[in-house]
Amino acid sequence: MIVDLHCHSTASDGVLAPSVVVERAHGRGVRLLALTDHDTLDGLDEARASATALGMVLVNGIELSCLWNGATIHVLGYAFSSSAPALLRAIAELHEGRWRRAELIAERLAAKGMPGALEGARAVQQELGDSGNAPARPHFAEFLVRAGHVRDRAEAFRKWLGSGKLGDVKQHWPSLEQTVATLHEAGAWISLAHPWQYDFTRSKRRRLVADFVQTGGHALEVVNGMQPLEQVGGLAILAREFGLMASVGSDFHAPGDWSELGMYRALPEDLSPLWGRFDHECRVSAAS
Ligand code: MN
Ligand code: MN
Ligand code: MN
Repeated sequence: MIVDLHCHSTASDGVLAPSVVVERAHGRGVRLLALTDHDTLDGLDEARASATALGMVLVNGIELSCLWNGATIHVLGYAFSSSAPALLRAIAELHEGRWRRAELIAERLAAKGMPGALEGARAVQQELGDSGNAPARPHFAEFLVRAGHVRDRAEAFRKWLGSGKLGDVKQHWPSLEQTVATLHEAGAWISLAHPWQYDFTRSKRRRLVADFVQTGGHALEVVNGMQPLEQVGGLAILAREFGLMASVGSDFHAPGDWSELGMYRALPEDLSPLWGRFDHECRVSAAS
């Protein structure tokens, strides 16, 4: 059975509506899917309706941003209660924070002679699907292209929005510890997202994993899309060393991108799959 435990819809920074993501995943043979939009549960109801119609299992999912040692990292939560007060509170705070961040990015771009970025990014976002969420950096990137400030999105990130650039506004994310605690309170299974994507040294990555275990995390995302094989190997070693389960996913955002639903490297066979712990029957039907 093909599983995909990491993907995005227009509820955050993906370009396909939640129901379209589910249909596309189903068409690609995925039979167990978790939609993991950034810091929101907004896409889950629509995704669930679509999954139910197709006879496919959809597990509640979310990708939460948090801070560890001054770096923004991502934590994936699965099969949680979507009405847990702690989770709803945390999401409301992140939602506010994302709007403040979007406003700040726009102010900084305006100061560099690129006015109207918030409205522009919002317009890009609205074309993809209406949502009350703040526009994210990909939306700002598209605005910069359309306004003629850069040639393409890659240049937008390279010059203005990427790591360390002026649009890389540090948000006051909650700590890793708080985030894992929030997910625990909601009864989630918790995986550390793409541990290789952070710009860490080997020893720092190992410390992150150690802290994640300490706070109560359950799994490592050993496979994230088509990441290089040696990274899968490195993460598998960490999962074994710390006795963590493994999760897999495409991290799909858009068709034609570097990722595709249900497409990712093979998980080393000795690792235990986190999704073996999901209690589909009760969790899925109990979701609201
Ligand atoms: Mn994203
Ligand atoms: Mn991520
Ligand atoms: Mn992601």
